[in-house]
Amino acid sequence: MRSRTIPGSAGRPRPLRILGDPALKEPCREVTAFDGELARLIEDMYATMYAARGVGLAANQIGVPLRVFVYDCPDDEDVRHLGHLVNPRLVETDGPVIRGSEGCLSLPGIEAGTPRHDHAVVEGRSRDGEPLTVAGTGFFARCLQHECDHLDGGLYVDRLTGLRRRRALRAAAKAPWAVAAGEPGR
Ligand code: ZN
Repeated sequence: MRSRTIPGSAGRPRPLRILGDPALKEPCREVTAFDGELARLIEDMYATMYAARGVGLAANQIGVPLRVFVYDCPDDEDVRHLGHLVNPRLVETDGPVIRGSEGCLSLPGIEAGTPRHDHAVVEGRSRDGEPLTVAGTGFFARCLQHECDHLDGGLYVDRLTGLRRRRALRAAAKAPWAVAAGEPGR
């Protein structure tokens, strides 16, 4: 395999946006130009995701308000899913709702049991504008739902309630990165 075919090998990691950054709360715009700039963005997103040892990354997590995400994520059967989606739409979620451990590169070091459907289908486009349909179960379905939430300005902690939510937000407020991110002290 030629090295240039490995996703991210032509990209460079960009700084991650952290909880409290307004870029994470803004819904992202549809991509209209399937050009070299988009291809470079996707390469940089892979490079950023791998550098941070994540399993998925949305464009607004590096401050780019476009509807794009990348993933390299196992499902519950340890099947690896690797790819990217441009202008993704979550078209189907079903199966049981499972509360499983979930984390996010924008809240480093924090995890919380988060309810998600066990099956998800996302439609979108490739970097070349070709239609794509991606279906996932288990942890990969969780990843697809998590990344779609990002593009609508959401975070997984928004899906938590009660004690779980308070615990996660308290941990975020105490995290070493909280001050750097400009979180109000509490
Ligand atoms: Zn995330």
